[in-house]
Amino acid sequence: MSKELCYYGNPILRTRCKEVTDFGGELKQLVQDLIDVTNTHSSYGIAAPQVGVPLRVFVVTYDSISDDGYPNGTANPKVYINPKITVLDDKLWLHSEGCLSVPGVYPEVERPWKIRIEAQDIDGKTFVEEHEGWMARPLLHENDHLNGVLHIDRISKRERKELDPALKRIKKKHRQ
Ligand SMILES: [Zn+2]
Repeated sequence: MSKELCYYGNPILRTRCKEVTDFGGELKQLVQDLIDVTNTHSSYGIAAPQVGVPLRVFVVTYDSISDDGYPNGTANPKVYINPKITVLDDKLWLHSEGCLSVPGVYPEVERPWKIRIEAQDIDGKTFVEEHEGWMARPLLHENDHLNGVLHIDRISKRERKELDPALKRIKKKHRQ
C-alpha cells in the first residue's frame, strides 16, 4: 500500500470511492498510512483516494476549536468510514480551503454551517456526531473526496479560471 500523495490530475481523485466492507488488517494499515501522511504534511484531514486507495475512508486531525476560531490539532486523529452527511443548517459560509492534493491553491469555498455525520469507526461500529462551522468544514471537504469532488469544483467559473495556471503547473509537476 502506498503512502505517496496523489495530486490534481491523477484520475483517482475523480473516482467515486467504494464502501468499506472488510474491517480487517488492510483497513487498519490504510488508516495508519493516512495518519502517517498527516503527520508529515500539515492538514486538517486526508481521504483515502489521496493516497491512491478508492475506499470511503478519511481521517481528521483536530478535535476542537482554538481561541482564534480554527481547528485545534490532536494527537489522536479520528477516522470516519462509510460516512453519511446530512445538512442541519444550510446557511452557507465562505472561507479559503487548502488541499494536500492541490498544493499552493486556496480557493474560497462555501459550505453549509451545520451537519450531522453518521459513520463507522475502525472496528465497524456506527457513531453519529453533529458539528458546525470549522468543526464541520473539513468533514465536508474530506467527504467530497470520496465522491471524486475537489474544493476547486465548488467555486465560480471565473475563480476557477484564475486558478487554471496554478492547476496546470500542479498537473505538469506531478504527471503520473
Ligand atoms: Zn483535499
